[in-house]
Amino acid sequence: MTYFRALDPFPLESADDTTLHEFYAHLGRGRLVTTQCRGCGRSAWPPRGFCPECGSAVFQWVDLASEGTVHAFTVQETGLPAGFEAPRVFAIVKVDGHRVFTVLTGAEPAALKVGQRVRLAPLRVADDPRGNPRWLAAFTPL
Ligand SMILES: [Zn+2]
Repeated sequence: MTYFRALDPFPLESADDTTLHEFYAHLGRGRLVTTQCRGCGRSAWPPRGFCPECGSAVFQWVDLASEGTVHAFTVQETGLPAGFEAPRVFAIVKVDGHRVFTVLTGAEPAALKVGQRVRLAPLRVADDPRGNPRWLAAFTPL
């Protein structure tokens, strides 16, 4: 079977594909983490392989809170790629001072409100071409 990268909507998450693979491994274990620069101490979102402040490529993984607050959201009801359920709720969730672009699962769009508390609920998506599990950061209302 031929694998067409351009048709795959999800990031490749293995160590062979990204230096940030540990982010996804932590996510699969239910933890939201990001990179913190060992040079200047700045934490980044999304996780980065180098620091935009000082240019250092030496970083450590730090945990972020497992709960956050909805900063903004939108609902997509049509035009979703095959395999995606509608309606799809996309949101920006504030977590430890970072604004995380994410998906809200288990959310009733008409009942959602800015400022609502949400909890991390990693979403398992299609396996990669080698059969390894893949995860996306997602949240669900409390
Ligand atoms: Zn730095």
